[in-house]
Amino acid sequence: MLQDQNSALACADVVFNLPIKEAFTYQIPDHFDGMVKVGMRVFVPFGRRRLTGYVVSVSDHNEKEFKLKPIQDVPDADPVISEELLKLTRWIADYYQSSWGEAIKAALPAGLDDTSLDKLSLTEKGAQELVDGSQSTSATYILQTLSAKKGLTPKQLERSLKKKYSAGAMAKLKRNGLVNSATKIKRSSLNYIYEKSARLARSLPTKEEIDDLLKRSPKQRAVYEKLCKGEIPIAKLKKEISAPSDAIKNLVKKGLIETFTNKKEKTQASEESDPQWTAESPLKFNEDQERCYRKLANSIEKEVFHAYLLHGVTGSGKTEIYLRCIQRVLDLGKSAVMVVPEISLTPQTVERFRLRFGDQVAVLHSGLTQKERFAEWKKIHEGKVSIAVGARSAIFAPFKRLGIIVIDEEHDTSYKQDSSPRYHARDTAMVRAREQNAVVLLGSATPSLESIKNAESGKYRYLSLEKRVHDRLLPMVKIVNMKQEMDLKKNFSIFSVSLKKALRERIDRGDQAFLFLNRRGTANYVFCRECGFAFECPRCSVTLTFHGKDHALLCHYCNFTARKPSACADCGGEIIRFSGFGTQKLEDEARKLFPQARIARLDRDTVSGRKSFEDVHRKMNAREIDILIGTQMITKGHDFPNVTLVGVVYADLSLHIPDFRSAERSFQLLTQVAGRAGRGEVPGLVIVQTLSPDHYVFEFVKDHDYRGFSEKELELREKLNYPPFTRMAALEIESDHERAGEILANNIQRALTGMLKETKGIEVLGPSRAALYRINNRFRRHLILRARDHRQLQSVLRHLYEIPEIKTLSNSKVKLTLDVDPINLL
Ligand code: ADP
Ligand code: ZN
Repeated sequence: MLQDQNSALACADVVFNLPIKEAFTYQIPDHFDGMVKVGMRVFVPFGRRRLTGYVVSVSDHNEKEFKLKPIQDVPDADPVISEELLKLTRWIADYYQSSWGEAIKAALPAGLDDTSLDKLSLTEKGAQELVDGSQSTSATYILQTLSAKKGLTPKQLERSLKKKYSAGAMAKLKRNGLVNSATKIKRSSLNYIYEKSARLARSLPTKEEIDDLLKRSPKQRAVYEKLCKGEIPIAKLKKEISAPSDAIKNLVKKGLIETFTNKKEKTQASEESDPQWTAESPLKFNEDQERCYRKLANSIEKEVFHAYLLHGVTGSGKTEIYLRCIQRVLDLGKSAVMVVPEISLTPQTVERFRLRFGDQVAVLHSGLTQKERFAEWKKIHEGKVSIAVGARSAIFAPFKRLGIIVIDEEHDTSYKQDSSPRYHARDTAMVRAREQNAVVLLGSATPSLESIKNAESGKYRYLSLEKRVHDRLLPMVKIVNMKQEMDLKKNFSIFSVSLKKALRERIDRGDQAFLFLNRRGTANYVFCRECGFAFECPRCSVTLTFHGKDHALLCHYCNFTARKPSACADCGGEIIRFSGFGTQKLEDEARKLFPQARIARLDRDTVSGRKSFEDVHRKMNAREIDILIGTQMITKGHDFPNVTLVGVVYADLSLHIPDFRSAERSFQLLTQVAGRAGRGEVPGLVIVQTLSPDHYVFEFVKDHDYRGFSEKELELREKLNYPPFTRMAALEIESDHERAGEILANNIQRALTGMLKETKGIEVLGPSRAALYRINNRFRRHLILRARDHRQLQSVLRHLYEIPEIKTLSNSKVKLTLDVDPINLL
């Protein structure tokens, strides 16, 4: 039977780290026959470019009607991603609506792939034209720039010419052959070295002819004779024969040898295990810990998927339980992943793991260089370690037999990636663990409402540690009404009388103090200076944002608008606008007030690298700092026994972020901060300053009453149809043309509403302006889809891209992003 020649060829489906959902099929050329496997990287032509792609399936014949482009290169001998992780990334792509390639990229260490760059240069003809000066002004600008600076990319050229850049002129120059654009591949230097080498030519003349050719050149002969024994890297040759370059060149010319580039996998310098890492022995559990551990160990041993929520205040001994569970997993010959928020991935955390598990641990965090990170990843990939400790992406650690995934501080918002794929590490961990029959252990002092609800419904098993280890006391929390400070005490300083007094006492006693100010609330809002009342949307229960230009108050969820009122709706008092102050100002004030105190500040402006972070840390431990001022950064991963006072300077900031989760965030944050006080023998004091002391969050913060808070908050969420009782997806429409964005948002809204006419329980909110409406001169609008559960939401999302307005978006200037289960709607 006659076979169609084309269909007889093997081919591979390839996906890319691009926002394109389809896979592309490439032909596997004969010389790569049998070498291309699922999970491998390949180098392929893609439009005008050449790209690294990931093979997601291989077939021995081509079902496509047309002729396929061939795979150009296969950089690895083995797959970089396992079938298991491929499946997981497939789930991520489906659930979070990213492309499969983007999800695969997220699961691999950064910098693994080669990148291709377009480089522009003048042709001879172009150089001549520049001299002749016969071109248009725009064209001359381009020619001049390219003549002055070699090897610019199109982007760099545009940037350097700014307004003078003309795309039309550029196209014409290329067409007429005055400018050349060449694709240069920037090789990833991570796992390969490219070594220039020499070897004998394939077809050599006779021995007599060779002797004749080498007769007058002893150096050429020496090189030739060396190569007779086999190929040699030129660098090595240079060490053995002085200045061989000319000889090599001439030998090549004579057809006796050839040079080539040898691609070699880098050998990792094998890391010596530090003798300091002697295994520390586990602590003896208290009763509570023992009870929790028993249940966990039972699931680990049975090797069935179970998710646990371990709820326990800071210092209750959760970490000790994690360590023991991981030990149990290792005993069974399996591996463990421990995920912590990036911010608490401090040297302390890492050290604790090293002390317990020595060189069994690989650490993955953003403080590492790409090379270091790759080295850590490789240790896992090759099975040289059994534990991965890291931030969000550690859930992709390429272990083969996973026994447990621990997620510490499971409520932390850094577990959601804020670029595509917008996955949540906790939810992704569930999917991965289920496939692997592994246990997921979520730990927190203030579980997210999503998780506590899952625990209540029985989806997660609930474990709790009721007390701090050694019955250490929880700190005293005092709420200070800053309104009264101003009115009654005529105190207009950032510091309340009680905070001043408490600070002075600490300084006199030689204790240490934290001052915490969360500056994240950048949005302006208005409140009553008499009673602290902040204006909220009557339909959404989020703080209204003040827009100075229109003198209007706006809800960023439903677009409710009101004129800025002249008096407080509650008490008739004077309305003022909040304009933020930050940690810098706080530091200045503190120095004025306590000139003799040693004061340090820790926030994103003062901490550039890990180094300065560790520096502050060391100084705190050495008691060289009396008052440490900071943002969120100071709330995590520190354990300083001498800190007996924590001052929360302005608690209202997080409370008034226009997000329905602001109360939850505030509770978590305040509890977290409070947990820093009195870790030693002395009970601590926490002073919380606020203009809205009657807000319900404070009554629960004061009593360390997580349960009371979550009950109240869940009740509110249910009433208002917010998660965890519903699922949401946010569509963000971003446009540099304000009107175009608005029209499109309205059209999509109409299309969606039409599509969902028949579906009960799913609604479209908005479009409304985003809280950060204008960023970099781009205008942002949100449309929110809200459904009863994730299945229902997913069934809508699957058809989203069939909406004509969305389908045609790729060739418009408007950018659309979709965030499934958003946790931040600014
Ligand atoms: P968490 O993770 O809940 O904040 P940790 O596990 O870090 O708590 O424990 C807090 C402190 O108590 C640590 O210094 C730890 O070494 C100590 N600790 C934990 N469990 C025990 C125990 N069973 N016996 C003695 N000390 C313990
Ligand atoms: Zn509203």
